[in-house]
Amino acid sequence: MESALTARDRVGVQDFVLLENFTSEAAFIENLRKRFKENLIYTYIGSVLVSVNPYKDLEIYTKNHMERYRGVNFYEVSPHIYAVADNAYRSMRTERKDQCILISGESGAGKTEASKKILQYYAITCPASEHVQTIKDRLLQSNPVLEAFGNAKTLRNDNSSRFGKYMDIQFDFKGAPVGGHIINYLLEKSRVVHQNHGERNFHIFYQIIEGGEEDLLRHLGLERNTQQYQYLVKGNCPKVSSINDRSDWKVVRKALTVIGFSDDEVEELLNIIASVLHLGNVQYSEEEGNACITSDIQIKYLARLLGVNGTALTEALTHKKIIAKGEELVSPLNLEQASSARDALSKAVYGRTFTWLVNKINTSPLPLCIRSADVCVCVCYSFEQFCINYCNEKLQQLFIELTLKSEQEEYEAEGITWEPVQYFNNKIICDLVEEKFKGIISILDEECLRPGDASDFTFLEKLENTVGGHPHFVTHKLADGKTRKIMGREEFRLLHYAGDVNYNVNGFLDKNNDLLFRNLKEVMCMSENKILTQCFDREELSDKKRPDTAATQFKASLAKLMEILMSKEPSYVRCIKPNDSKQAARFDEVLIRHQVKYLGLMENLRVRRAGFAYRRRYEVFLQRYKSLCPDTWPNWQGKLADGVSTLVKHLGYKPEEYKLGRSKIFIRFPKTLFATEDALENR
Ligand code: ADP
Ligand code: MG
Repeated sequence: MESALTARDRVGVQDFVLLENFTSEAAFIENLRKRFKENLIYTYIGSVLVSVNPYKDLEIYTKNHMERYRGVNFYEVSPHIYAVADNAYRSMRTERKDQCILISGESGAGKTEASKKILQYYAITCPASEHVQTIKDRLLQSNPVLEAFGNAKTLRNDNSSRFGKYMDIQFDFKGAPVGGHIINYLLEKSRVVHQNHGERNFHIFYQIIEGGEEDLLRHLGLERNTQQYQYLVKGNCPKVSSINDRSDWKVVRKALTVIGFSDDEVEELLNIIASVLHLGNVQYSEEEGNACITSDIQIKYLARLLGVNGTALTEALTHKKIIAKGEELVSPLNLEQASSARDALSKAVYGRTFTWLVNKINTSPLPLCIRSADVCVCVCYSFEQFCINYCNEKLQQLFIELTLKSEQEEYEAEGITWEPVQYFNNKIICDLVEEKFKGIISILDEECLRPGDASDFTFLEKLENTVGGHPHFVTHKLADGKTRKIMGREEFRLLHYAGDVNYNVNGFLDKNNDLLFRNLKEVMCMSENKILTQCFDREELSDKKRPDTAATQFKASLAKLMEILMSKEPSYVRCIKPNDSKQAARFDEVLIRHQVKYLGLMENLRVRRAGFAYRRRYEVFLQRYKSLCPDTWPNWQGKLADGVSTLVKHLGYKPEEYKLGRSKIFIRFPKTLFATEDALENR
């Protein structure tokens, strides 16, 4: 506890369970505000850490701070991300249970920073030998590399992770980190070929162009001007004041070596990145409805950088080949088709190379894990957003289930009767998305595989016919055949647990199919670039079966993730973004209330407060308050439980105010505890 409880009015409570009026959202937000004003960005809900992005550097991440949290009881010191990290680490070592730290929040809320802080904490505080130092370096250095290839400037965050990331660190029996593992899912590949206004492509493109040495640029055939490249001009945002692409390049280049990439591998990797830029500059003209490439300068670079045959590439960028009844059919593409084939190739090349990169960074599979996922529910229209929100829905389900489970288990372990809690179960929404045959993903896949006139529009129609009556699904069509004016004809709305989101079906089929024409695949499979040969497996050509759709792959990787998380003991960090302008000291109440809602924090608090607000181990409780009772001061000689019992009776606790478990005292109302704290102050 903070020692000066008179300060409670000024800085609020450091654990929301101590809020007098715990069902009031206003009280919740007021407490956040008070603390935020005092630069206290961390607050607990029981063992869940709520963090508000300060948008300024605070002096709370020094080595001294790390030392302060090492091996200390969770509640003895003020809330901190280090306390969560330390607690997970010690549970792993003492209870031999695999741990995971789940970090969630919307884009810009501070998830990536939080996971970096955890990593830094382990790098400094865990035991180290020389070998371990190498591993630590690799773990730390993997961050700038992943961020260069997987992050981009968006309207919401200058350094937004555009992929779901699940990262874990493995420790040996002495508690030293020995490896790490990252699973990525759903990189936002569409960003490679298109960016919205005010947004950028992935950082790496700008880094190479701004920071690459003269020799390197010459080798890659690139000019030092980002505005020369079609894939970099769409957002009209070449420079970002908070980003220095030149110096970032130096960091990334060095990091690639530290994490074990050979010079040859780096060269091949950069060849691929540069070739994506050249692909973007391939221009077409149309002659009699057939696309042809206007200049072959890009093709020359591409042939060399990708290690492919230029003529075959040209052919594949202007024609499509399909196999029907064992026969090959080649037909010319029109201008629009050729452009989208080119973009599909760029996305496939970049996406697969990213996966390769992540796998390369990975070492072995592991026990202690840290996970972070980009979560955004505000302005959502796209297929990607649909997937991300589905992921959030699953995580929320897991979160509530596990919180309830651990509460129940604690009560049982302590021999205290459990009183059932009412809560909103979002399984109904998860089912709507993922159920076999009649879930949205199934219906989408069905449309993707159906030959003929399938389109985004027929997908929407099928949705209306299949799940139109579902209580969490809405379109412009009303049951009586009339139309709902406020919704577009291309939209459907899902009533997520966190709020309603409209999705525009435009592009759903394409993005889910992620189709690459056969002749483009063939060209890539013949590549001499060693990275690409691993990315484009020749098996794909012989295999008649279609690869899984993007949504189905995503669903499968989520299912795997849930399985991993269920098998571990979770800790939670819930990140909140205080305003949309990345400003320090601005507390935008509307925005924050929205996040409190969709992070399910009130629900979480309700579950946590359903029985008892506060619980402490007997020895901790006794140690703190023993001076308030002559029988327990200076030391209680008998059993701890008897000591606590004597103490609270002396303090006048009424029977309904508390319960004594096997090793802990449970206190029902915060005011009981506050009275005791005040007594300590005024002694
Ligand atoms: P997310 O991963 O949730 O999208 P980030 O972790 O990238 O968000 O945070 C966005 C930005 O906010 C960071 O680049 C940094 O400037 C700032 N930020 C986040 N957390 C902190 C923190 N604990 N202290 C100071 N600044 C922070
Ligand atoms: Mg991030």
